[in-house]
Amino acid sequence: MKILVLDVYKDVEHRISKDTSGGYGTGNNFGDTLIPRLLKKTLKKVHDWSPMFVAYTISVLKKNGNQVTFSKELTSNFEDYDLYIVASSIVCCETEINAIKKIKSKGGDVFAIGPFATNQPKIYNDAGATVILGEPEFYFLQKKHYVEDLKKKIITFDHSFELDDLPYPDWKTIITDPKKVSKLFGNYSTIPMLATRGCPYSCFKYCVYPLQQGRKVRQRSPKKIVDEMEYWKKNMNIKMFVFRDPVFSINNKHTIEFAKELINRKLNVKYIIETHLRILDKELIKILKKSGLAAVKCGVESAHPEVLEDANRFTIEKDLQFKKIRELEKNNIQVSSMFILGFPTDKEETMDNTINYAKKLNTTYAQFSVWTPYPGTPIFNEYKNKIITKSYEESDQYNLVYKHNSLDKNIVRKYLDKAYRTYYFRVSWILKFVRSFIFA
Ligand code: SF4
Repeated sequence: MKILVLDVYKDVEHRISKDTSGGYGTGNNFGDTLIPRLLKKTLKKVHDWSPMFVAYTISVLKKNGNQVTFSKELTSNFEDYDLYIVASSIVCCETEINAIKKIKSKGGDVFAIGPFATNQPKIYNDAGATVILGEPEFYFLQKKHYVEDLKKKIITFDHSFELDDLPYPDWKTIITDPKKVSKLFGNYSTIPMLATRGCPYSCFKYCVYPLQQGRKVRQRSPKKIVDEMEYWKKNMNIKMFVFRDPVFSINNKHTIEFAKELINRKLNVKYIIETHLRILDKELIKILKKSGLAAVKCGVESAHPEVLEDANRFTIEKDLQFKKIRELEKNNIQVSSMFILGFPTDKEETMDNTINYAKKLNTTYAQFSVWTPYPGTPIFNEYKNKIITKSYEESDQYNLVYKHNSLDKNIVRKYLDKAYRTYYFRVSWILKFVRSFIFA
């Protein structure tokens, strides 16, 4: 079968990722004054990859003997294909719907895949697509023929596959220049990587990751993860891996096995993880560093425990956060801390305090975004009648999309802009940034 896998994006000056926020996607629209605009334009050039479920889907489709083309836009010869698979997201939803309608107007068959279509299938059904609910790579792993399923609106399926049953994601088809995938932590050839899926933490009420991946952690064998890293090093000269697990190292034993395997194989590669500070201790940090850990992204979210508690965000004491971040830095591991403004109980004062706390932590990078109630998450029921935006694409995590008790959209944008402007325009941050790269 000739298949076109489409991963379309709206045309904006900031970076859009469909791989973040559990596959719903985010748009890094930092702000509208000079520094935030410079930052968002720069990020767009140095940090970009398609969702992992797309890379896995392509590899499975090829394994099944299909001829697969990947594109970020509807190609001029798009009518030549037997089947179209569209990667869904909230952040480019209307753009995807337009592409589906265009294909349908020419009589094409379309599957919509991914977490957003899984949770909001009607939007994609109404445009004419058949929605595959759940993890599409596993659907294609068990199904070789799709004609009957394309007559349905929604496809549900059970499977007993494990993550290790998947072939390696087909980054060769998707990534034309691995040097452009992520330069945030150095100018290395980079690709995304997966060790685990699923997250058991209490913030599942507003977080998208557990929606698609589940709250139970599924993990790949440490040996197979390192086998894959070795494969990419040999075949694409990859030197840096961005782990896309929602929380890397939930299982300490599994992580230590992985790190030891990586050390024993002497691959000499680096990697970046996203994790919860609670998980990290001195011993784990040491072994991860020895195995190549270059940078950690961690959610701090707010300076106010009561704001986090209200949103069911599990956190640790500020002093402990500070100590763990400094421990990482002492081991020359760069840190990117993530903060959220516009929580339901945030006020101007608490957002200001969060920005100041970020400056106090003074990590190599700080990311500020806006709290967003996402369709499909348990908390959305409380907010569905308070949504103030007209399009799904506005839910890019950089806009206030709901009626807040004390803040409005413009005030939150103002604080977001202020956060980026004042965080990155400081001598102490410039010194930290330079130092962290000298010793990395
Ligand atoms: S720790 Fe919370 S925010 Fe992070 S992936 Fe898990 S549920 Fe989501």
